[in-house]
Amino acid sequence: MKYYSLNHNAPKVSFQEAVLQGLAVDRGLYFPETIMTLPTSFFETIENLSNEEIAFEAIKQFIGNEIPENILKEIIAETLCFDFPVIEVEKNIYSLELFHGPTMAFKDVGARFMSRCISYFKKDKKNNKNTVLVATSGDTGGAVASGFLGVKGVEVIILYPSGKVSDIQERQLTTLGQNIRALEVDGVFDDCQDMVKKAFLDPDLRHKNLTSANSINVARWLPQMFYFFFAYKALKKQNQPLIFSCPSGNFGNICAGIIAKKMGLPIEHFVASTNVNDTVPRFLKNGFYDPKPSKATISNAMDVGNPSNFIRIQEMYQNDLEKLRKDFSSYTFSDEETLEAMKTIYKSSGYISEPHGAIGYLGLKKELQNHQNAIGIFLETAHPIKFLETVEPTLNVKLPIPTQIESVLGVEKVSTKIRTYEDLKAILV
Ligand SMILES: *Cc1c(COP(=O)(O)O)cnc(C)c1O
Repeated sequence: MKYYSLNHNAPKVSFQEAVLQGLAVDRGLYFPETIMTLPTSFFETIENLSNEEIAFEAIKQFIGNEIPENILKEIIAETLCFDFPVIEVEKNIYSLELFHGPTMAFKDVGARFMSRCISYFKKDKKNNKNTVLVATSGDTGGAVASGFLGVKGVEVIILYPSGKVSDIQERQLTTLGQNIRALEVDGVFDDCQDMVKKAFLDPDLRHKNLTSANSINVARWLPQMFYFFFAYKALKKQNQPLIFSCPSGNFGNICAGIIAKKMGLPIEHFVASTNVNDTVPRFLKNGFYDPKPSKATISNAMDVGNPSNFIRIQEMYQNDLEKLRKDFSSYTFSDEETLEAMKTIYKSSGYISEPHGAIGYLGLKKELQNHQNAIGIFLETAHPIKFLETVEPTLNVKLPIPTQIESVLGVEKVSTKIRTYEDLKAILV
C-alpha cells in the first residue's frame, strides 16, 4: 500500500516509510492511496470471527506485503490483549469501553500496534536507532511509554508540562525506565508541542531518525478502526442503524471510524463531541475553519484548538461540506454540562463515566433526536480512575484502584526538567 501526503508536495511512500517518518517531508499527513470495501460475506458472518481475525481482515490492505501475514497476526494479538465490552447504559444507548488496556485509555491500541510495527521494521538495522519523540497533555505519554517499553532499537522521549498532568498520568510515564525517558517541561502543553515540532524541522537532528507517536502517525491512527467493527459485531443482531459518538480532540479516533465506514461497515452517522474547544462544531455550522488556541477543561485529553486529523476527514469527503454533513455532526459542551451528564448517567443507571465519555454521551443524545429507531454508541475513552479528581467528588463515590494503576503507584518518578528548546536539543544530540 502506498501513502500520499495531504499537502501533495512529497513523494508517495510505503507503509514502512510512512510509519518511520511520521509526517511527510512537505509536513503533510500521510493518507492511504486506496480504501477497499470488504466483502459483504465478511459483515454477514462477522459474529463467527474473533476480535483478532476481524482486526486482521480490516488492517491487512493498509499494510500489503510489507509485514508477513504470520507476523502481522502476532502484532494484532499482542495489540488486542484486553477486552472491548459494549455496555447498555440506557435503552438504545451503549458505552463502548476502550479503557481495559495497560494504561486504561484507548490510545493503548494505537501505541501497541505502532511500537510492534516499528520493532519489526527495525529488526535487521541494529546501528540505526530511531527516536520516538512525543508531547503529551496526559494520556498519550503513558500509552506510548507502555507500548514501546523494551522495544529494541527505539528510544522514546516524552515531553510533558510540569504540574499539568494528573498524578497517575505522570507516574505512568516517569516510572518505567529502560528505553523510556521523560522530560518535564517548565511550561504548558503547547510549549511541549512547539519543542517537538521544532526538533522535527531541525537539520542538526536529521541523524536521530525522529518519528512521532501521536495520531498523525498512520500506525497509531489506523488500528483505531478495530473497535468500531467490534461494536458492530456486538450489536448487529438488533438490526437497527448505528450511530457512533466519539469524544474528540485531535479527531484521530473518529477519523478511523470513518475509514471503517468507507470499508463497508454499516454505520449510519458519526458524532464528534467536543468540549469548549469547538473549532469543528463551528466549521460544521458556518463553513469557516477557524482554529483558536486551546482552552483548559476537565476533559483535558481533548483540549485541542486545531485538530490535526480533521484534514483526513475532509479528504474522505472531497472537501465537500454538504456531503460531510450527511454522515457527520459535531457538538460542543461546557464543563458544567459535562458534570451534569456524569451525574445524570450515574443516577439513571449507576454507570460511572468520566468527563470524555460523558461528552460523548451528550453528543449522542442530541443526535439521536434526528434518528428514529437507531442505536447509539458512545466511546468511553478512559477509565474513570484516570480522572478521579473529577469523578469522585462529582458522583460522591470512591473508586477502587485497578491493578494496572496500582503497579505504578509505589514506584519513584524519574524525570529530567527542561526549560527551553536548547535544553531538549542538548539531550537529543
Ligand atoms: C486522546 C483522547 C481523546 C481524543 O481522541 P482523538 O483521537 O484525539 O480525537 C478522547 N478521550 C481521551 C480519554 C483521550 O485520551
